[in-house]
Amino acid sequence: MEPTIALLGPPGSGKGTQAERLRDELGFAWLSTGDLLREARAEGSELGRRAGEDMDRGELVPDDVIVAALEEALAELGDRPVVLDGFPRTVGQAEALECELDAAVLIDVPDDVVAERISGRGQGREDDDPETVRERLRVYHAETEPLVDYYDRRGLLRRVDGARDADAVHADIRRAISPRGGREP
Ligand code: ADP
Repeated sequence: MEPTIALLGPPGSGKGTQAERLRDELGFAWLSTGDLLREARAEGSELGRRAGEDMDRGELVPDDVIVAALEEALAELGDRPVVLDGFPRTVGQAEALECELDAAVLIDVPDDVVAERISGRGQGREDDDPETVRERLRVYHAETEPLVDYYDRRGLLRRVDGARDADAVHADIRRAISPRGGREP
């Protein structure tokens, strides 16, 4: 069984940047649920229609909707190492995930840095206006942060300081997911 890792962290913590580097440098398949949903919207599919309003408000789409979409996308990848970017985002999603995670990497970034980064990144995402960013952060703390404890209790949590440049964060993630799991010998 190939390793499956999940990246946890607030919006703007660099999950996408780091997932892309794990793909390019270590050969992981990169599965971003945010991208999956944005593509579904662009195609005008049923999934996109069901997710659109929640996304525009900065809310999470319902667990059953995203879990079904994620499992379908995972099945298409076959037996490859996978990095999940943006999933799971609730304890319900973590419990529904059929495959076991090898590590959950928290990219830790304080709220003020997040707000600054998103206002500066100018990707033109509809949900990047200041009010929606505040709501996405609120939702992160309320719904997603409990996963930090959830994975810590299972011995799977790896914490990296995300308030640094992407190279430094990448190096830490590589150490964290190496076979010794970033723990001291
Ligand atoms: P970010 O991490 O920058 O907030 P994403 O691109 O990961 O953004 O997600 C954008 C939006 O897509 C979220 O605000 C949410 O509405 C929806 N979304 C993405 N992943 C999930 C998920 N696992 N569960 C529920 N909603 C999700």
